[in-house]
Amino acid sequence: MLRRAQELEAAGHRILKLNLGNPAPWGLATPAPIVADMVQNLVDAQGYSDARGIYSARVAVAQHYQTLGVTSVQPDDVLLGNGVSELIVMVLQALLDTGDEVLVPSPDYPLWTGAVSLCGGRAVHYRCDESAGWAPDLEHMAAQITERTRALVVINPNNPTGAVYSEEVLLGMIELARRHGLVIFADEIYDKIVYDGAVHHTLAALAPDVPVVSMGGLSKTHRAAGFRSGWLATSGFSSTDDYLDGLQLLANMRLCPNVPAQHAIQTALGGYQSIEELIRPGGRLLEQRDHAWRSLVAIPGVDCVKPAGALYLFARLDPEVHKIHDDEKLVIDLLEQQHLLISHGTGFNIDTPDHLRLVFLAPTDVLDDAVGRIATFLSTYRQ
Ligand code: PLP
Repeated sequence: MLRRAQELEAAGHRILKLNLGNPAPWGLATPAPIVADMVQNLVDAQGYSDARGIYSARVAVAQHYQTLGVTSVQPDDVLLGNGVSELIVMVLQALLDTGDEVLVPSPDYPLWTGAVSLCGGRAVHYRCDESAGWAPDLEHMAAQITERTRALVVINPNNPTGAVYSEEVLLGMIELARRHGLVIFADEIYDKIVYDGAVHHTLAALAPDVPVVSMGGLSKTHRAAGFRSGWLATSGFSSTDDYLDGLQLLANMRLCPNVPAQHAIQTALGGYQSIEELIRPGGRLLEQRDHAWRSLVAIPGVDCVKPAGALYLFARLDPEVHKIHDDEKLVIDLLEQQHLLISHGTGFNIDTPDHLRLVFLAPTDVLDDAVGRIATFLSTYRQ
């Protein structure tokens, strides 16, 4: 799809791209103090750093988790990475033997499924229930556990569904992990992007006795996706666990993450959290979410659970109205006909070809234009 979009662009067409959670190009700029910090430190950032990351940033990440109630986290429990993406591969590489299974949500952020395969493992998907606001189905999850299951991936707030999990659901997942000896990978990159008073519960704070790898970064909450700056913090592991040695070895092998971006972390976590201005009433992200959601669900045969967090609308096409057999083809046809690029649901590892994901980072007039194109397209589209 991306290749086709590039071909159309090369042929002189303007393509409206609402397929990526990349805030800065939509005028949602990285806060100035973070950029200033990185610029000021450039001169000191010419050499490799400690493979785990610079000490001041690891202290800032440890303090961040301590404030959130994960009281055990120390700077030595923190590892910095070139975005969460790099760390996702590392945490799986360190854990998996060939054939090991990892519970991954469906729908998922597809890098998780891809990275499990890349590391020789098998992603086993647990269902998230659309009729329950996309909450994980704990019974289905429990039924997927075998003696090969090693880990459970929890993405909260969720991409692509925008669900923010209740404490009760999180405790249910933690109990399963506790009972079956699973490591939990808590991908919390959208932790500060929640709407309408939704509360994000930091998973590790609820599970002091369970091995948890908590992950976050600057890409979304600090709108600095291009800096490639992320972190992980481990908690609940025994100090003799050789998993932590494996992680350290992998960190050493990549020498160190991008050093200038590490300097931004302390300022980002310690300073004024300007994301608050975007998500509160009157805030740009909240208004865009409401605007795009209202116009999307006004299209005949389209409904969508209103996202309580993150940056995405995961809309459902009613199969009675839109008889879609191939959602990837639908998205390519939409691209060809309307010059709009969005994502198809099966790309997020769901079984049925009846969902589309739209990013609501663009201003409302652009979102109006995009939803209008989808409505025009769907009004005549048949497969
Ligand atoms: N995890 C989730 C759930 C995401 O949605 C994304 C990016 O969209 C990432 C991880 C990767 O983020 P990073 O830019 O830190 O690599």
